[in-house]
Amino acid sequence: MESTLRRTWAEIDLDALAHNYSVLRRHVGHAKFLGVVKADAYGHGAVQVSRVLQELGADYLAVSSIDEAMELRANGVTMPILILGHTPKEQVGRLIEHHITQAITCHAKALEYSEEAVRCGGTLTVHIKVDTGMSRLGYLCDGDHFSTGVDGICAACSMPGLSVEGIFTHFAVSDEPDEDSVAYTKAQFSLFCRVIDAAQARSGHHFALRHCANTGATACYSETHLDMVRPGLLLYGCGAFAQKLGLRPVMTLKSTVSTIKFYAPGTSVSYGRLFTTDRTTRMGVLPYGYADGFFRSLSNRCSLMTEYGAAPQRGKICMDMCMIDLTELPQVDVGDEVEIFGKRNSVNDLAALAGTIPYELTCAVSKRVPRIYLRGGQVTDRELLLRF
Ligand SMILES: *Cc1c(COP(=O)(O)O)cnc(C)c1O
Repeated sequence: MESTLRRTWAEIDLDALAHNYSVLRRHVGHAKFLGVVKADAYGHGAVQVSRVLQELGADYLAVSSIDEAMELRANGVTMPILILGHTPKEQVGRLIEHHITQAITCHAKALEYSEEAVRCGGTLTVHIKVDTGMSRLGYLCDGDHFSTGVDGICAACSMPGLSVEGIFTHFAVSDEPDEDSVAYTKAQFSLFCRVIDAAQARSGHHFALRHCANTGATACYSETHLDMVRPGLLLYGCGAFAQKLGLRPVMTLKSTVSTIKFYAPGTSVSYGRLFTTDRTTRMGVLPYGYADGFFRSLSNRCSLMTEYGAAPQRGKICMDMCMIDLTELPQVDVGDEVEIFGKRNSVNDLAALAGTIPYELTCAVSKRVPRIYLRGGQVTDRELLLRF
């Protein structure tokens, strides 16, 4: 693949991933480990990330759809995979055939899946999803819904086409430190535990895998680790908790200076003339724009990192290019690398500037940006998601 042509790429440091995994493993002690690799592993490349997790002995993976699960199966990933989102019932046969675990989110779907599994002559492995306050998917179990919710879960446990291996819930604010959020998270966890106790008592079924700890809960609420933790962002070394735990960013997004020009004072730069030079300005052009995943809302408000220091980004970010001010950085030359975010320019800071979360920035790195995989400082693989 000769596709560093445009000279913007994402370096995926698989050693950092292995480091993060081992730190997290130590942090959670006896609990099993599910790595969340949905959305192409938050933009890092699900196949590569999953292969490493499989090698390191992780217990489970989670994706959002059957397509994401099949991509992993087609690329040598044999470990258990849980689909967190919806799968049409017509696909139940494929789930069984490829040993893919499905989340069950309500009574109607449990019935549908069980019927279809029986029709296929197989058993579908499932994890029951409990809605304890996220108000998205899952058996509603709070307040007046407790009894009906538990009944529904018990019913699923005895359906002929289903093998209920696990039960899980999802936190809404486990990553927020304020008192209200802490109380909410604890209430969600307490409800989850009560639902499990009631369902196990009523049905006699034992849930082998009880899990609820996403990134915030894995980092801050050890009581929620139960049988298995389920972090995503932490693995990729992004976010405030990753910093606290000594994790390393897995993705470093880089570009190169393609052109440098000098402008006289009073020259306007890029669409909309948002920036005008107030001195003789040495301006670099990077082949990196919003079609690569840069947020146009960051125009004229952020800095990118050169070898010699931060360079302010100037003017509107274009589809394929952006400009950086190199006046104070005369050492930076055409061809030099510029870090968009990663080890030296934190994705957390850039996300905060854009008024969003780091998840959105790594997920936004687009398909025309090649991923370069590194291990022991060596390039082990290159991937370009374009068709040619
Ligand atoms: C995405 C997701 C996670 C992982 O969340 P992080 O905040 O990245 O740790 C865990 N569980 C479910 C159900 C999810 O959808």
